[in-house]
Order: sequence, then structure tokens, then C-alpha cells
Amino acid sequence: MRGVVMHAPGDIRVEARDDPKILYPTDAIIRLSATCICGSDLWPYRGIEPVTEPTPMGHEYVGVVEQLGSEVKHIRVGDFVVGSFFASDNTCAICQAGYQSRCVHAELIGAIGTQAQLARIPLADGTLVATPGMPALDLIPSLLAASDVLGTGWFAAVAAEAGPGKTVAVVGDGAVGLLGVLAAKQLGAARIVIFSRHADRQQLAVEFGATDVIPERGDAGVAKLKELTGGLGAHSTIEAVGTQESMLQAIRSTRPGGHVGYVGVAHDVRLPGDELFFAEVHLHGGPAPVRRFLPELLRLICERRINPGKVFDLELPMEQAAEGYKAMDERRAIKVLLTL
Ligand SMILES: [Zn+2]
Repeated sequence: MRGVVMHAPGDIRVEARDDPKILYPTDAIIRLSATCICGSDLWPYRGIEPVTEPTPMGHEYVGVVEQLGSEVKHIRVGDFVVGSFFASDNTCAICQAGYQSRCVHAELIGAIGTQAQLARIPLADGTLVATPGMPALDLIPSLLAASDVLGTGWFAAVAAEAGPGKTVAVVGDGAVGLLGVLAAKQLGAARIVIFSRHADRQQLAVEFGATDVIPERGDAGVAKLKELTGGLGAHSTIEAVGTQESMLQAIRSTRPGGHVGYVGVAHDVRLPGDELFFAEVHLHGGPAPVRRFLPELLRLICERRINPGKVFDLELPMEQAAEGYKAMDERRAIKVLLTL
């Protein structure tokens, strides 16, 4: 099969990889219908995370099941399936509590690399959710978004306790932040404020339900938000970047008693204890347990009640993945879908 491999920061190649095989009786092999590039793939691309050897890329996936291990009971060959970037058994105590991303048997799909024609998905029964029948082709981008960016934005909104009557602030205008806006809207938020200075992203945020846009960032952005909220700050803040500046902006944007849902993968974030003490906000986040939300998200997508696939603003054949990474790195694209 063909697949995307990162050889070094900035060095993306599409090359022959071995076809995956069933390794454990709980595995499935799927043929990808489409795949995509994640904002988190840019950390190694930019050399912020080391790349020590040629590394297969990708952790988002939708596709059709081709082969199953002997112990898989609920997924069938021919099913169209969506899964999360963590494989999970969906039965252990942590999964049952809704934290499948920290399943006691969790396996990182990023280590498998789903920017490829085929992928082995571990723990198929617990990880994969099948759609009712074969979805229409135009639903595939939205279903692919559910695999990570929608599920992650949704978790951020839930962790931030977005809901009726709440003012929600969103730090980060990448795909996750934008879909955090969509999630907050679906959860009934009264007002949704996104920090964004890019016209195309502002427009999509408004389409997804944002009521206000603040172009300033850092403390200047916080001051603007306070102006909009009678000096109090947001009830709920979604943090979708993962830097020191964005975490502090999120905490400072939140009123006492409010909630921060943080899902940007943290890079060198150090929170000052004294400021945290007096901020008096709830912090809840981490790698999103996307699997918890997949059945509901697939239903909303298949009923055409949400259209998260709009975050894909560039579509390229997988063979041109290098151009896709470049476009996202240069912020010419919000999110790139790779066709197969
Ligand atoms: Zn589990």
C-alpha cells in the first residue's frame, strides 16, 4: 500500500508501506475512504517534537472494514466505520466512566499511521463505531472530522460546561477551536466568542455559531472579552492551542467559578500556582475521549444536523501530502483532506 511517512521535520514523503495484517484476534483492517492532516502533525513537522526515524503519519480515519480478527463480535466486514485516535476496549472502568482516551488498554493510532490506504485498528469492537449503512459520499468529510477534531472540540465544550445561558470563549481558531464553537452552539450556549485574527476562520466560526469575534490575543484579548461580559469573563472557555500563552489567556478569560476545557496538546506549559489559586476556575482537559461522543456525533452528521466537514478547506490526493502539510504549516489551509 501507499502511505505518508515523515523522514525529518519538513520532509514528507508518500511511499510504499507494508500492508497491515491482523496481529491480534481483536484487530480490524480497514480500507480508508479518506484521511487528513492534523494540527498536531505540525509539531514534528516544525521540529518542535523530534523525528528520530522515518515515521508513518496520521491518526484520523474513516473507512470500510476488510478483515477481522477471530474475536471481533460487533463490527462486520463491509461496515463503514469511524474511530478515535486512541484505540480503547470500551469496557474497563476508565472507559465506562467516559475516558476512553485513557483506557487501561489504550493504544495510540498515531503509532500505526492512518495517512495510508489501509490501517490496522486494534480493539475493533471497543474502538470502532459503524454508521447505519453506507453513508453518502458528501458526508465523508464530516465523518472524518468526527474521528478527531469534532470529537476533541466537543469534549472541550463539555469539559468547559458549555450549555444554555452560558457565555463561551474559544482560544484557538484551528479546526478544533472552530468545532468547539459548533459544539458550544449545539450544547445551547447563549453567546460564543472566538479569538481569531484570520478572516476565513472568523467567517467559518460565525457560520458554526460564534456571536462575537475578538482579533486581539493575550492580555489585550482578555481585556476585550471582559468588556463584552460586564467585566466578569466567560463562564466556559475552550483552550485549543496548547501553549503557555493560550493556557494563560484561557484561564484569564474565565470568570471565578467558571470552567476551562483544554484540549490543545500542551507544549512547555507551566502554570503559576499563585495566579491559579486566585483565578478560582475549574480546569479539565487532556486527550479527548472521542469514543464517548462518536455515537451521538455520527447520528447528528448522518441526520445532516451538523456539517463539521466544512473545516476541510483544501482537498488533495494523498500523493500530494507534502503540499498539504506545507499549506497547513503556512496557514494557507485550516485543515487538509487527503483523498485516496
Ligand atoms: Zn478501557
